[in-house]
Amino acid sequence: MASSLDSLMFGSDQTVAQSVREAGENSKPESPVPVIKTLKHAPDQTVCCTLNGVHSRVTAQESPNPGDHSARHLPNKLHSKYTSSMNPSLQVTVDHKIKLVPAPVYSPGPNEVLLHVKTTGICGSDIHFWRTGAIGSLVVEGDCILGHEASGTILETGPGVSNIAVGDRVAIEPGAPCGTCFLCVDGRYNLCEEVQFAGVYPHHGTLQRYKVHPAKWVHK
Ligand SMILES: [Zn+2]
Ligand SMILES: [Zn+2]
Repeated sequence: MASSLDSLMFGSDQTVAQSVREAGENSKPESPVPVIKTLKHAPDQTVCCTLNGVHSRVTAQESPNPGDHSARHLPNKLHSKYTSSMNPSLQVTVDHKIKLVPAPVYSPGPNEVLLHVKTTGICGSDIHFWRTGAIGSLVVEGDCILGHEASGTILETGPGVSNIAVGDRVAIEPGAPCGTCFLCVDGRYNLCEEVQFAGVYPHHGTLQRYKVHPAKWVHK
């Protein structure tokens, strides 16, 4: 199944949160299922949601930003014309909740692109991270934006990007391998042990509107 964050924010019969919840109904619950009861785009650019009956209001400034939203992007962020844009994101928490909160928008660094994520499929591993908090040695240790099976449009390109241009529609390869280990050098980068995989803590995923991603790992 696939859902769009734009339809999530601006109204649709089936939201991403609903899709995740419905997909989770097929797995064995190990904790109470959080229910998002209200979802409003408030005029002051905050997102209101109700999780397990507890109302919370989170501003962009309070939004957690672990993972690939790291400090390396911060010096450039004012250079992006999308920095002040609303970036709704669907995050899993260590206590098995799903929350919809704004996330920062960063500008692409060298060899990176800024994507407008258009569609993300809900994968079994997204559900597993939510319901159990781990897949093997991969453990959700903090808030993390889910999603890794996605496509989108290029909004901005960073320095050195030549394989892709603004406006290109791309499929997003979610794992960015190290490029230097013997497996990567041998062309078996899918086995790289240093891979930074979107949607696997601490690397934020694609269930957000704007995502910075290595230009090498998007495909026209
Ligand atoms: Zn998957
Ligand atoms: Zn590698």
